[in-house]
Parts: sequence; structure tokens; C-alpha cells
Amino acid sequence: NPMSISPQLGPNPSSLDGEKLGRGQSGKLSHGGTLYLVNQSHPFTLNYSLSSNGITSSTAQRGLKSSWQQFGSLMVYTAAGVKGSDKIAGFDIDGCIITTKSGKVFPTAPDDWKILYPEIQPKLASLLKKGYKVVFFTNQLGIAKGKLRPEVFKSKVEDILVISLSVFQVFVATGPGIYRKPVMGMWNHLCEKVNLHKHAHTACDLHLCSDAAGRPENWALGKKKKDFSCSDRLFALNIGLQFYTPEEYFLGWKRAPYNLPELNPTKLDSAARLYDPPSASLTSGDTEVIVAVGFPASGKSTFFHTHVIPKGYVYVNRDTLGSWQNCVSACERALKEGRSVTVDNTNPDPESRKRYVDVAKAAGVPCRCFHFSATLEQAKHNNRFREMAPSDSKHAKVNDMVFHSYKKHFQAPALSEGFSEILQIHFVPSFKDKQSETLFRQFSEG
Ligand SMILES: [Mg+2]
Repeated sequence: NPMSISPQLGPNPSSLDGEKLGRGQSGKLSHGGTLYLVNQSHPFTLNYSLSSNGITSSTAQRGLKSSWQQFGSLMVYTAAGVKGSDKIAGFDIDGCIITTKSGKVFPTAPDDWKILYPEIQPKLASLLKKGYKVVFFTNQLGIAKGKLRPEVFKSKVEDILVISLSVFQVFVATGPGIYRKPVMGMWNHLCEKVNLHKHAHTACDLHLCSDAAGRPENWALGKKKKDFSCSDRLFALNIGLQFYTPEEYFLGWKRAPYNLPELNPTKLDSAARLYDPPSASLTSGDTEVIVAVGFPASGKSTFFHTHVIPKGYVYVNRDTLGSWQNCVSACERALKEGRSVTVDNTNPDPESRKRYVDVAKAAGVPCRCFHFSATLEQAKHNNRFREMAPSDSKHAKVNDMVFHSYKKHFQAPALSEGFSEILQIHFVPSFKDKQSETLFRQFSEG
């Protein structure tokens, strides 16, 4: 018989087996089910036992059961006995806590793993003794890609718990998006929904250890290979955590050199100059054609819709019209009506631009070029955050092939192609609210 749970009263949600109970909601709990009080801080597991007289009795045991919960593309494992704390010791799993037995980069079988260093088990034990909460943060994109079954990864985590003799919580980002490191979604979930910690005593009370540290080739004697990524150092940087590599943390090695990405999104100036030369005028009183050149996600469409279209220009774009032939026809129609037109395509090479220069020439009007100067790194960063913003429905997802095809075909626009003027348009971020700015100003990777 399921046990009835009284309605939720306070503002901190309870949950039943991962289902959140809002204020005023009630539910039922069956044998083996778990009720969590105050977000996920206090688990109670229900156990019925049949006594000799045939009457069942129930007991609710506190925190005796480990649990898995799912929040969108985030999986959270809470081992029995995990307690909240204002001191967090965070770890990556692969290459930090465990490594492969086979010596291969990727495991060859579900059981192809071993604890990386013998120092790890005593270190985790001493952290728990000092009142730290031990938390693992892992990116497992293989789950979303269908290459790794969640059940297989879950039992691996449970095995690590047994072998490491530890007590920890695990955050697993199973796909792309806000939970994938270095974006800080998993950390925010920990702070807001699970741990409720307030303030750390010192910076070292919140720290992260990982091998995704951006170390270059030959970073130490006998360590030839460079790190495959810098994502976890960036994750720590986004959050403001002290960061250590496994060798620094467990073995006491000295700090290794590392490289950060060229693009620092915290330094992007939203008051920077928008275009060059500054003496140029963005729009014209006479009929004209403006041809864009720039990476996908370099800010072309936002720029045109903010600064040019409101002045009466016709907007031509291949994503909406389907082909360059349709774009050329739309230009011809607009010019016939005596209207100016902007062509918002990537137009990387002279061949793609010539189509519109020719249309302008035939109509006897000038053609200008707006070259959007955002780098590949900037454009990819913009694209990643577009994908994360649920409100952004007007942009289609851009894959790496599209970026690299632009890069491959790119030839800088020249006046000799028939342009009367070429403007450089800089990427200057603007934000509709504080929340989207906070998201955008994080380091990203991938
Ligand atoms: Mg790793």
C-alpha cells in the first residue's frame, strides 16, 4: 500500500522519487520510494516489512538509500549519507578520479577503469572528515549521442562509490546546453536546488580538481601529451573556484603551465565602436544595395534589424528565401520599386558577392559591402549561447561544417569587386536582460 504524503506547506519544494511537490501538492510513496525534504537535502526512504501476524508496518529511514534524479539533460546521483556543506570539493571523474585499465584514452568496456592514484581514497576521506561535501562533475555527451547507455554509466558511478569507500554527489551533463562544462549550469543547480550553501569561509573552501586544464605539450617531465581540453579550468574560472590539476591536488606537484582561449567573454565591451571608418554613414538617402560578408552568428542579422531595416531597407536572407537565386530576384524586385536592400548572407567569396553587385549595376545604383569582422572563435561562442537561450527561436543551429566552409572560402572583400565603399562592422554584444548577459559572459568550449 502506498503511503500518503501530506501536502507540501513551506516554500522549499519537497520531492517524491524525483517528482517535485509544489506548495499545496501531496502525493503517494510506495515501498522503497524516497521522499526528499527541503529541495534534496533530506532523503527519507520508505520500507514496509511484513510481520508474523500479517500486518505490514512501515519505516522511513533517513538517507540510507542512494538515489538518481533527472533534471532535463542533467542526472544527479546522491549517495546515501551525503550532507550539504558550505565547503565543496569538486572533481572531474575521467582522468582525475579514474583512468582506464587498458591504457586507452576511452574505455574499451564498462569495467575498463581503475582509481587513478592510490592517494585519492585517503584524500577523499580526509575531505569528508574536514566537513567538505565531495561532488563530481562530469560531461558525458556520449549519452545524448546514444554511444553510452545511461544505465551503464550509472552503475559505473555506483561502483566508483564502493571502490573509493567515499560518500559523494555526482552531476552528469548528458548533452550539450547549460549543464555542459565549462558553462556553470551544474554548479548553479548544486547551489540553488541541492546544497543550499551560503558562503564559503575562504576561496579554497570551494575548489575543483580536473585534468581538463589546458596544459600544453610536455607540461612536465614524461608528460608529453597536451590536455585534450581546458573546459574544467574554464568551469572553475566561470564560477570563481580555486582550480588544481590531479597531479597538483593528489601528488603535490608544482603548478603546470596552461593556455586559456584567446576570447575572454568577460572582457567584451558592449560600449565599443560599432563600425569603421567612424566617418561612414550606415544608411543612405539614395537607393542602394548593401551586401554582408561574415561568419554565421557574427551578428549580421541583429545589426541589420537594429540599424538598417528600420530606415526602410528591404531585408533579403537566404535562410528565409531558400536559395541565392531567390535572393537575387528579391533584390531586383526591391530596386524596381525604388527601395534599398540589404543582403544578409555569409557571402565569403567574390563569386557569391558578384551576383548582387551585378544586380545593383543593372539598376544603376551603388553597392556597398558590410564586412562583419567577428572571428571564428567569437562566432562559435555566439552560436553556443544562441543554442542555450530558449527565447532565441529565429536562429537555426549552425554546425561546425558551416563555420569551416566559410573560413575555407573566405576572401576579404575589395573595392575592385565593384563596391563603392566597404565598412568593417565589429561584434559589440548587447543584452536584453542581466540573465542573458551573465550566461554570455562565461567561457565556453566545444
Ligand atoms: Mg577528465
